[in-house]
Amino acid sequence: MSTPENRSQWQALADSIAINGSAFIAGEYVESQSKATFDCISPIDGKVLAKVASCDEADANIAVSNARATFESGVWANLPPVKRKQVMIRFADLLEEHVDELALLETLDMGKPIQYSRAVDVAGAARSIRWSGEAIDKIYDEIAPTAHNEIGMITREPVGVVAAIVPWNFPLLMACWKLGPALATGNSVVLKPSEKSPLTAIRMAELAIEAGIPKGVLNVLPGFGHTVGRALALHMDVDTLVFTGSTKIAKQLMVYAGESNMKRVWLEAGGKSPNIVFNDAPDLKKAAQAAACAIAFNQGEVCTAGSRLLVEAGVKDELIGLIAEELQAWQPGHPLDPNTTSGAVVDKQQLDNVLGYIQSGKDEGAALNFGGRQVMQDSGGVYVEPTIFSGVDNKMTIAREEIFGPVLSVITFDGMQQAIEIANDSIYGLAAGVWTADISKAHKTAKALRSGMVWINHYDGGDMTAPFGGYKQSGNGRDKSLHAFDKYTEIKATWIALD
Ligand code: NAD
Ligand code: MN
Repeated sequence: MSTPENRSQWQALADSIAINGSAFIAGEYVESQSKATFDCISPIDGKVLAKVASCDEADANIAVSNARATFESGVWANLPPVKRKQVMIRFADLLEEHVDELALLETLDMGKPIQYSRAVDVAGAARSIRWSGEAIDKIYDEIAPTAHNEIGMITREPVGVVAAIVPWNFPLLMACWKLGPALATGNSVVLKPSEKSPLTAIRMAELAIEAGIPKGVLNVLPGFGHTVGRALALHMDVDTLVFTGSTKIAKQLMVYAGESNMKRVWLEAGGKSPNIVFNDAPDLKKAAQAAACAIAFNQGEVCTAGSRLLVEAGVKDELIGLIAEELQAWQPGHPLDPNTTSGAVVDKQQLDNVLGYIQSGKDEGAALNFGGRQVMQDSGGVYVEPTIFSGVDNKMTIAREEIFGPVLSVITFDGMQQAIEIANDSIYGLAAGVWTADISKAHKTAKALRSGMVWINHYDGGDMTAPFGGYKQSGNGRDKSLHAFDKYTEIKATWIALD
């Protein structure tokens, strides 16, 4: 079928597909052991999309023991890397062949514009699977520089059973940033999507089987964090736990690991990223476009959102004016309209969070320059305008806490030293932008920033070749690039005496 071209064609496709809300264990769709379900509600219009299996500890136990048995059998882990590569490439191809269906599920489930579900989420998910698969037969192990009468082999082995717990903002993409390296290195995985966005993970599972990934290698357990998520994190037979989500839950997962089997825990958590614009920025219009996108894209529900705009006094007013102009192009619209750039917020609870932060900005004395209101109430869905606050002090709540909505806090600074101090004055350290025409100032600032990613004269760049992740309470370890493979492998040193 060809890609729908307008909202009514997308709606027709939505009305025609059967939405599956089952768990996926050992290659089969199943109910939860308790038979419990929860309603999956679309934030586009408030309608129930499906009943989804609400998994808990009993399901976690079954899925983990299946994943363990499949791992031990070697059906996947012991395949020659070139074979795993071929299967993963086929899996990526299948994700791309189902781009419209997967994108539609993502949009219906969490409200993002259909154009981005296709071009960013599903496309990026397929890229991650393909890139990791392509890499796996090109990575060599090591021989230690030993004496002539011994050999020291340094080899990498899959960790075994990986539990992956992912958030709702890029549901399929975050899952595939984990699945790419986890599967390529031969592990078995139990994936827990967010209760706010389980649909694409469920659908993807059968595409993995169709691609040739053996049954039991990829299991999907929809359900809540405090039930099935907790059970996986406390499980004595999960070797590695990988997570993307909030800093609060990330910390809790470290506690669970310490209380159970000391499983390895790798965390991609929150951010409050500074986007620093100096007086000598080479192109203020371009900086404004990037700043608008950095706060409005994905309704601001982006871990790397440039949510603190640090602007040098000399260009402050001009820049705020330009950003306000740019944000006109980011007004919310119906997510199934292919021209829409901002969609619905993921759910009512998140809308209330965002509106609460907007109120706190007003209460604490920031100046509301733009937006700030809930819109499109007639739709039955949840939408909010892109919003700019200026005159923000870095001590205010809207400068310290991750809002995860389209709310920009503009903070004025004077000189490089002050910019760096304000930028680093945060519990987070995920990403940062720097806009200047002065190459040494750019390098000095980038070097001084305590952050996992720095973008100079642009924002939110990157592809599969570069690691993604943060310093400080933004997490540990990295997704993407070959560095991600570290999380899914143990290093073994084997010594051979030759005489
Ligand atoms: P969240 O932490 O509330 O939930 C993330 C996942 O953890 C969900 O699947 C949830 O069900 C599960 N969970 C919740 N409580 C749990 C528990 N007690 N035990 C086990 N699992 C539990 O985060 P969210 O609201 O889904 O996502 C938004 C957050 O994700 C933001 O803070 C954002 O910055 C972060 N994020 C980070 C990155 C990154 O790469 N650094 C990327 C995207 C999102
Ligand atoms: Mn949903």
